[in-house]
Amino acid sequence: MPTAIEIFKHLPKKNCGKCNYPTCLAFAMQLANSKAKLDDCPFVSEQARAALAASSAPPIRLVRFGSGARVIELGDETELYRHEKRFFHPTAFTVVVPDSLAPSEAGRRAKEIAAVRFERVGQALSFDAVCIRDVSGDAARFASAAEAVGSSVDLPLVLSSGSPERMRQAAMKVIQRRPLLHGANAQNLVPMAALAKELSCPLALMQNGLGEMADLVAQARAAGVEDLVMDFRTSGLKDQLESSTVARKHSVKKTYRGLGYPILVEAGKGEDGILRGMLAVMKYGGLVLFEEISEAQALPLFVLRQNIYTDPQVPIQVKPGMYPVNGAKEDSPILFTTNFSLTYFTVLADIEKSKAPAWLLVVDSEGLSVMTAFSAGKLTPEIVAKALESSGAREKSRSGILVMPGMVSRMSGKLQEATGLKVIVGPKESSGLPKFMKGL
Ligand code: SF4
Repeated sequence: MPTAIEIFKHLPKKNCGKCNYPTCLAFAMQLANSKAKLDDCPFVSEQARAALAASSAPPIRLVRFGSGARVIELGDETELYRHEKRFFHPTAFTVVVPDSLAPSEAGRRAKEIAAVRFERVGQALSFDAVCIRDVSGDAARFASAAEAVGSSVDLPLVLSSGSPERMRQAAMKVIQRRPLLHGANAQNLVPMAALAKELSCPLALMQNGLGEMADLVAQARAAGVEDLVMDFRTSGLKDQLESSTVARKHSVKKTYRGLGYPILVEAGKGEDGILRGMLAVMKYGGLVLFEEISEAQALPLFVLRQNIYTDPQVPIQVKPGMYPVNGAKEDSPILFTTNFSLTYFTVLADIEKSKAPAWLLVVDSEGLSVMTAFSAGKLTPEIVAKALESSGAREKSRSGILVMPGMVSRMSGKLQEATGLKVIVGPKESSGLPKFMKGL
């Protein structure tokens, strides 16, 4: 969205008030904050409308592929650095299934890819899409592989082929899934762009060099395809970093709009593939294609992605409430902690390790950790007492024992008064819980 001053430049400057704001500048400020509509001014020229539409377009185009509930969104990023605001669309991880496999094998491989799943701080980590690659050069084989994969998994699909004809045959088998077509280059751009336009599918362009990619983007747009993804055919990590950074920087700073599209990275396989995948997550890759990747190799990449794409201003939280651990019963004690996800899962794991039945009361601290919440007045004896009432804790546990985190022991007296329970100060670090629970 352009700034108020940029918008103001395009307004008629009559200061007539017909937009319900006293001056054009006041109206521009409301527009910049999305609190007014351009249509509210009856005097805006078509030329001004077009200029404002162009400058309010996202710096990196939002490109979608997939269908129904399984749609991947790429691009629409507005920042160069995560700390400036946040990144919006996590890098999508895709694993390649070659059409050299028999259709049944291709389907089985796709199922294996879809089944990979880890859970970390309450979030599921998994692959996002499957890429069917034309390595056989046989149209019927490529189409059969696409069909087999499409009928085996509901993940979004990427079709990778340099042949417009083979791409057409495969795409027709899974067209209802709106696949991403990967394989347009300087030689086949005209038929590939025509196919993408006809099928309303996004198109990935393969080209090395920033200038050359900009030319290819311009040609694809001239052919009527706007949903584009850029695959810089880079020679190594340095080249990958440079292409991605220059494209992102010029797009976000709006110094050049011709490369404002999501970036696809062909990671390949092995150690080099993992490094390329890591770099793509850190530096502006929208989609990564892995030729091969094991679960052990994928996990650190999933975690890296999760960390980079978490909104730094919104801590990951768990739902407040009372949770049984190790088969807690009526006579089991209550321990409490905050709803900051990392704190909750650490405490939970340490109670589980003790094997002692207990109730874990999760207090709503707006996602802050114990010490931060205490310092900010979000973890007080009154708040804990309220959480005990709202979670029905007193009905679930009749032990009369409340174990508090040792870090905030200074509120133990007031906590006992506020809750009427016997308050026991637990260890300062949750790693001390297994030993502490044994002596409770
Ligand atoms: Fe300015 Fe248009 Fe509002 Fe009149 S209606 S004050 S010209 S923005």
